[in-house]
This record gives sequence, C-alpha cells and structure tokens, in this order.
Amino acid sequence: MSLLTVGSVAFDALETPFGKTDKIIGGAATYITLAASYFTKKNNLVAVVGGDFPKEMVDLLVEHGVNTEGLKTIQDGKTFFWSGKYHEDMNTRDTLETQLNVMADFDPVIPESYQSTEYLMLGNTVPATQKTVIERLAKRPKLIMLDTMNLWMNIALDDLKDVLKLVDVLTINDEEARQLSGDYSLRKAAATIMAMGPKTLIIKKGEHGALLFQGERIFFAPALPLEVVFDPTGAGDCFAGGFIGYLAKTDDISFENMKRAIIYGSAMASFCVEKFGTERMVNLTQEEIDTRVQEFVKLSSFEIV
Ligand code: AMP
Repeated sequence: MSLLTVGSVAFDALETPFGKTDKIIGGAATYITLAASYFTKKNNLVAVVGGDFPKEMVDLLVEHGVNTEGLKTIQDGKTFFWSGKYHEDMNTRDTLETQLNVMADFDPVIPESYQSTEYLMLGNTVPATQKTVIERLAKRPKLIMLDTMNLWMNIALDDLKDVLKLVDVLTINDEEARQLSGDYSLRKAAATIMAMGPKTLIIKKGEHGALLFQGERIFFAPALPLEVVFDPTGAGDCFAGGFIGYLAKTDDISFENMKRAIIYGSAMASFCVEKFGTERMVNLTQEEIDTRVQEFVKLSSFEIV
C-alpha cells in the first residue's frame, strides 16, 4: 500500500556527549521516509527545501525508492535548520535553535499521483500545514498518523487541537503527553488525549520503550538496551516510519498488528541511534532488521510455569 509522508527535510547541527556536528542532513520526513523505505516501495514525500539543499541527498532518497515529485525546492530560500544539544543521559535534549526558513510559509502541494494514498504520515511540522495536507487529499486515507512536539503546544496549541480531531494515531513523547493533557499519569494523559481525536496514541519513552493505547487497551514495547547510543536524533521519526511502513506493507490496522508495527518501529529507532544523523538508516539490510526484531521478541518473552 502507498504511504505519503509530509514533514521537515532539514539541516541539523547536533551536540551529544560523543561529539558535535556542523550542518548535517536531518529532518523528520527524511528519517521517516528512510525508515519506511525498508517496508514499502510506494513511499511518497511532500516537503520543501531551499536552494542550499544538496542534490546528492535527494538522489539518495530516490535510491531508497522515495518518490520526490512532491519535494519542492525554493531556489532563493534557505532549508529549515534545527540545532540541539543532548544531556549526559541522552534521553533529554534542548533545542538550541530553530530556523523555519522555507518551512515558514510552506504550501504543501499534493501531486496528482499521490492522491490515492492509503497511509498518511504527518511528520512533525506546523500544525496548520498538517491540516492543509488532509484537506487537500480528495479521499481520506485509511490511516492518518501525526507526530508533533512541545514547540507547537507552546505556540500553536489551537491549530494543533484542530488537526488532532482529524487523525487516527498520534505519537508524542511522555513529556509532551503530560504537557498536552495536563495529567501526570500517562494512563490519564492517554485518555485525555484520545478524547481530543486520535483513537490510538503512542507515547514514546526514549530508552524506556513506548506505550500503545487504544480505548481501554494498552501494549508496551521495550527499547533494546544497546551497547552504543551515539545520537538519538531522528529516533522518534524512524520509529514512526517503521511503524506506519509496516502497517502499509501488511495493510492491516488492527490493534494486534499495531503491536507488531510498534516492535518494527522500535527496531528502526534502535538502528538510528547507533550513528550520527541518517548514517545508519541509509544502508540497512533486511537480514539486520529481521535479526533485530527477533532480539526484541526474545527481550520480553517469558513463560509462567
Ligand atoms: P526526533 O529526534 O525524532 O524528534 O526528530 C529530530 C528531527 O526533527 C531533526 O532532524 C530536526 O530537523 C527535526 N525537527 C526539530 N524541530 C522541528 C520542528 N519544529 N519542525 C519540524 N521538524 C523539526
């Protein structure tokens, strides 16, 4: 089944306890489409970059089967830029700078060939833009998933609440879930947030895994304890790309299949953090993914005697 991803394609500057990078390629949609490329070959992207964005990176996305017909280049504009610094524990980070640049007035044009998309992933971006994308699709996709962050809760809460009414699955981290709901208990927070629109909610807890909520049902997926965590940037997006990519591949949106999808998402996130930026996501093999998924299965399966 086909997937449409909308979100940032960016330059990032990162600082972790292991090192510092100048401008490297990042962006929510970059990570999502790369992760999803291991599951679906109908992988459509809508995003905007400036004239400063390297053609080689667009070629790399194309090599991964990403359809870049909807990637707009504004020649005299600058690409979205984000810089962040991770704390010692790597679980938390501070945003040092966000320059929206060409994203500030991004008008998401959906190519005709994307119109029949069945799965829509609204990566982290301006909530009003996320809503415009939904409105511009002639037919509602089978599943709409949205990712967002605290920035939009701070500066565009009404727009965010507006688009949340239209989506099926929301992914946010635990801190954002508490901010959005005003509840400390994640269980209460989930109920409050699901009442805002999304029937399914995924709360990411970094190295402590992720919770999947749907009505009264809850499922927990652990994160794999890794020997090397180099750079957590993009982990949430790779998680989302693996999750929705797997749903698109299997074309099954039941809760049982979402449990499997969350493990695939967690596996993709675990690869992402092993190297800086997108480095690890561009050359994975199917065998590596299958082996990693089996490690997740072993990690939490047990028998009661
Ligand atoms: P994650 O680590 O999964 O939360 O995503 C990190 C990516 O999100 C980075 O590559 C950034 O370029 C991108 N990003 C950070 N802030 C924003 C924002 N306000 N809007 C869109 N993308 C963002």
